[in-house]
Amino acid sequence: MRVNRMRRCGTAERYADGIQLLKNPGDFVTIERGIPRSVLILCPDGCGETISVNLDKRSGPAWRRYKRKEAITLFPSVWKTDGCKAHFIVWNDKILWCDAFGAARSELVSEDWITTVFEALPEEETDYQVLAEMLNVVPWDVSWACDELVRRHKAAAGKKRGYYYKKTVSDTKGRINIFA
Ligand SMILES: [Zn+2]
Repeated sequence: MRVNRMRRCGTAERYADGIQLLKNPGDFVTIERGIPRSVLILCPDGCGETISVNLDKRSGPAWRRYKRKEAITLFPSVWKTDGCKAHFIVWNDKILWCDAFGAARSELVSEDWITTVFEALPEEETDYQVLAEMLNVVPWDVSWACDELVRRHKAAAGKKRGYYYKKTVSDTKGRINIFA
């Protein structure tokens, strides 16, 4: 049984102690020794396996962890490459399943936020992760706002994956904007 929510189960210094605190799918524990080392998640698809998400750049590829009002967000997505092959995004304590989600993502960003991203988006092709860094915000929020702007013909996807640019007035001239 898949769950759609993360549940905080505290912190631990060691993996072996952390794993004891996980009871149900979606439960997670942060392993901290001086600095955050990893997040242990009891696989949210119910397979019973534990996923270790590295947060420490010194031990290899690391995820970014964001906290907003104590809710956890991880970037990029978590993909279990063995066993159940669960693939999901952790965003504000929610678990967004990558195979079942898709179009609904733009509903997670507000109209105000879409406007903010539109104003910040350069007219030259820009990596949404770089833009997120500039705005000091979660990359997912920028990515989803950019996708929505593309749908509205206010931005376009660049040649490289994850790149976007603002459409200038001349780009959009003569186009009927059904969202206007
Ligand atoms: Zn699983």
